[in-house]
Amino acid sequence: MGLAGCHICDQVVRLSDMSAATCPRCHSTVHYRKPDSMNRAWAFLISAFIMYIPANTEAIMVTGALGQKSSDTILSGILYFLAHGDWPLALVIFSASVLLPLLKMMVIAYLLIMVQRGHALRKKEKTRLYLIAEIMGRWSMVDVFVVAILAALIQMGELSSIKPGPAGMAFASMVILTMFSAMVFDPKLIWDQSEKNNDRRNN
Ligand SMILES: [Zn+2]
Repeated sequence: MGLAGCHICDQVVRLSDMSAATCPRCHSTVHYRKPDSMNRAWAFLISAFIMYIPANTEAIMVTGALGQKSSDTILSGILYFLAHGDWPLALVIFSASVLLPLLKMMVIAYLLIMVQRGHALRKKEKTRLYLIAEIMGRWSMVDVFVVAILAALIQMGELSSIKPGPAGMAFASMVILTMFSAMVFDPKLIWDQSEKNNDRRNN
């Protein structure tokens, strides 16, 4: 019908034959589909995958006590809690820091591949999957917050200190890059594919 929703404020804008127009409410540019959605989503996703590696291999936390320094990766921290019988905490850190970020990246990769291949089946499930991936993202920052709080709490100079390790930055950028990837991906592309396939079937 020549109408498109604003990407920022959801205002319905009449585009007709134009490929882009300015939103009368928030003055951002409105398109039928987010431009270069697939390329941008892939670029952010691949960068996030790359950052996932140092996030897990480098030290997330450097603890010093009485002059002795020790560094912990996410995984060694989980193993520490497991060894001390603190399995609920180990489970929370494992799912928030290792499992969920990987799962979210895999969900986005799956959606991107499906759109590229023109698969149309189960579009409702795919849209739901996209929503889950978007909601999941906000929980993976738990790890960064834990280190930030611990670092702020325990600063007693040489006696005892906790500092964030290099994995902290890698982890935070991985989470943010994954969020960007989900944001630039246009879920309407999932529905476009199924409409194309329907046309083909009807002809
Ligand atoms: Zn707007």
